Amino acid sequence: MTDVVDGALINATLQHPSPKAHPIRPAAILWIIWTGAAAVLSLWWIDTPSVSGLGEWLTGAGRITGLFAGYAIVILVALMARIPALERGIGADRLARWHAMGGRYTVSLVVAHGLLIIWGYAVTANTDVVTQTSVLILSYPDVLAATVAGLLLLGVGIVSARAARAKLRYETWYYLHFYTYLAVALAFSHQFSTGSDFIDNLPARVLWSCLYIVVGVLILWYRFIVPIRQAFRHRLRVAQVYREGPDVISIVVVGRHLEELSAESGQFFRWRFITKNSWWTANPFSLSAPAGPSAMRITVKDLGEHSRQLKYLRPGTSVVAEGPYGAFTGRARTRRKVLLLGAGVGITPLRALFETLPGGPGEIDMIYRASQPSDILFGAELDSIADARGTKVNYLFGSRRQGRADPLSAEHLTALIPDLAERDIYLCGPPGMTESTIKALRRARVPRRQIHHESFEF
Ligand SMILES: Cc1cc2nc3c(=O)[nH]c(=O)nc-3n(C[C@H](O)[C@H](O)[C@H](O)COP(=O)(O)OP(=O)(O)OC[C@H]3O[C@@H](n4cnc5c(N)ncnc54)[C@H](O)[C@@H]3O)c2cc1C
Repeated sequence: MTDVVDGALINATLQHPSPKAHPIRPAAILWIIWTGAAAVLSLWWIDTPSVSGLGEWLTGAGRITGLFAGYAIVILVALMARIPALERGIGADRLARWHAMGGRYTVSLVVAHGLLIIWGYAVTANTDVVTQTSVLILSYPDVLAATVAGLLLLGVGIVSARAARAKLRYETWYYLHFYTYLAVALAFSHQFSTGSDFIDNLPARVLWSCLYIVVGVLILWYRFIVPIRQAFRHRLRVAQVYREGPDVISIVVVGRHLEELSAESGQFFRWRFITKNSWWTANPFSLSAPAGPSAMRITVKDLGEHSRQLKYLRPGTSVVAEGPYGAFTGRARTRRKVLLLGAGVGITPLRALFETLPGGPGEIDMIYRASQPSDILFGAELDSIADARGTKVNYLFGSRRQGRADPLSAEHLTALIPDLAERDIYLCGPPGMTESTIKALRRARVPRRQIHHESFEF
C-alpha cells in the first residue's frame, strides 16, 4: 500500500479496517419499510368501522393516501440521512435510486391526498370542489400551510424529473431539494389538527411524532454534526496534487487518526475543499488507493466546473471529507475468485480494491478498458500489484463504438476469463458501458448477485 506523509510516498502496512457500523442488508430495510407501511394502514383500519357512500369512500381514500404520504416523506428523508449502516449496506447509488423512485410515488400520493379529500368533502357537504377548496384553505391555517408544503413538494418533484434535471446545474437541483425539509415542517401540524386518524389517538400521535423526531435527529447528526466533528478530529489538508493522465489528477490528502474512519477500498467520501471557489460544494470521489492512517488519495477527472478547478489546489488547503460511504467493497464479495472490470476514471475504486482484496494467484484479475494506451491511469501501480498477485492486467483498447467487435461482449469476456461465471465481478465505468457490460455478463451466465457495480452518477 502507498501512504503519503508530508507529500512523500512511502510504503506502509496494509490496513484491514473494520467498519464502525454494521451494514444492513437491502432486503432487511425493505422489510422494515413495508412493515411500517402496514402499521400506517392499520391506523385507518382501526379508526374506520364502516364506509358508506361516495363521499366517505373518497374521503377514506384521501385519508389513506395522506397517511402514506406522511410516512413516505419521512422514509425518503431518512434514506438520505447518510446513516453509515445504510450507506455501507445498501450503497449510496442504490439509496439515491430508491429515493428518486419513492419521491415520484410520494408526490403522487400528496397530490392524490389533496384532490381526494377535497372531492370527498365536497360530495359529503353537497357543494362543488372550488367552494370546498376555499373553505378548507381559508378556514384551517394548518391546511393552508400543508397546501404550500404540497406545492413545494410538487415543485421539487418537477425539477427532479429527468428532462428538467438535465437542464439544471447539479448544485441548483441539489439545493432546491432543501425545500423538502420546509415542506415536511409546514405539513406536520395539519396531520394532528385535521387528521381524524390522529385526533383521538394519543399513542398514534406520540409514535408518529417520535418517527419524525428520530429522523430529524439522524439528519442533524449525520449530515451536520458528524462532518464538523470529523473535520476537527482529522484536520485534513491537501499534501500533493499531481497529473495522473489526460485531464486527470490525483490529490493526496493527509490528516490525523484516519484509521478511525475505517475507510475501505471501493468506498468514497464527499470532499469539500476549503478555497474561495469551492468551499460551498462537496463532490463524491472514490479512494484511488487504500486509506492509510495518515493519508488518503483520490483521482479526479475533469468533468465539469468543480472537478476542473481541483488541479489548482495548493498544498496546505484545508479539506472536509464526509464519509466513508458506499457498499462497493470486499464485503459484497460472495465468491473466492473476483474480476475487477473498469473503464475510464471508473478504475479509481478498482485500483484500491485490486491492492487489498484478499486472494491467491489467479483469484483476483482485472480488465481495464480505455480508448487508447495514453488514457491508462495508474499503469505502473496496477502492473506492480498484478506482479505481486501473480497475474497481469488485461488492457482493452478501442473507441466506444466497436459494433460486433465490442471487447466487453459476452464472448470476448468469456474468452479472456474462462471461469467468468464463477467470479464476483466488480464493475465501474461510464453509465452506458456499465449497462451494456451487465447485459453481457448476464449473457455469459454470471448470476446477478455476483455483479457489483458503482455508479458515478446519482
Ligand atoms: C459514488 C461516486 C464516486 C465517484 N468517484 C469519482 C472518482 O473517483 N473520480 C472522478 O473523477 N469522479 C468520480 N465521481 C464523479 C464525480 O463526483 C463527478 O464527476 C463530479 O462531482 C463532477 O462535478 P463537476 O462540478 O465537476 O461537474 P458538473 O458538470 O457540475 O456535474 C457533472 C455531473 O456530476 C455529478 N455530480 C456533480 N456534483 C455532484 C455531487 N456533489 N454529488 C454527486 N454527483 C455530482 C452529476 O451527475 C452531474 O450531472 C464519483 C461520483 C460518485 C457518485
